[in-house]
Amino acid sequence: MSKHDDQEIEQFLEEVFSENYEHLHAETGRGITPAMRQLAWEHVRAYWRKMRSVAEKVTETEVRLSLPSQTSPSGKQFTIEGVVDVVREGDETIIYDLKTHNPDIVMINKEAYAGQLNVYAHIWQKLRGNTPDDIAIIATEPPAEVRKALQDNDIDALKRKMAKWDPVVRLNFDQSAVDKCVSHFGQIVDNIENRRFVPPSPKELGKTKPGQKAPFGTAVCRHCDARFSCRSYEKYMASKGRKRTEVIVHDESELETEREDFLETMVDAETGV
Ligand code: SF4
Repeated sequence: MSKHDDQEIEQFLEEVFSENYEHLHAETGRGITPAMRQLAWEHVRAYWRKMRSVAEKVTETEVRLSLPSQTSPSGKQFTIEGVVDVVREGDETIIYDLKTHNPDIVMINKEAYAGQLNVYAHIWQKLRGNTPDDIAIIATEPPAEVRKALQDNDIDALKRKMAKWDPVVRLNFDQSAVDKCVSHFGQIVDNIENRRFVPPSPKELGKTKPGQKAPFGTAVCRHCDARFSCRSYEKYMASKGRKRTEVIVHDESELETEREDFLETMVDAETGV
């Protein structure tokens, strides 16, 4: 395929990306900052460049897998559903689950990711009568150095960094992980049905998971819409001498960028741009 064709495909992807964004924006009324939008596009572009050979081999895309008639510990019926991509080569079947996460974090927390994918493999086995030969997560978040090379249009650096990047995390099919995961889903169903919506304790919010840079209360909660009414978050912030309306960042330049982006987005919204 020529360079011209490659450019055409990326142009097409960018157009579809923009259309999707506009569609979601119109549907939900929620926007993201220009910097986040650019980051999301770079994410898609880098993923396409790296995983093109796998993407082109996918024989069944967005396969909906469903496991109905499951029973929670308190007797509630529920169905597990998931969407995967499947590659069939000769007699071999590989099931891929795409996550917009960092491969290092997936690798460190392999067990947490394995449960869900094992359930999909189990459903596949029941529906199609064959056990997948391989199951894997494709963690699509490109490393910072790949994004930087893309931004700088530094072709040599991009080649080197892309070669080092491995977004595919392979996992082993394990039946005992299926049972554990289904039982965990059942407990969640019971919590939802019984209106037990208890946030993690402030102590839990202060913990940093392996592979992450900031504790949950900082990395995740500051993006959560429920934080203004969440008692745990209020207490977590109070333990840092902050109000819950404030933002904790690890790097002051990050805060500055967020402020600028926030203002820009608000101005766009006000002026209807
Ligand atoms: S702020 Fe949101 S994410 Fe954080 S503990 Fe509360 S509800 Fe959960």
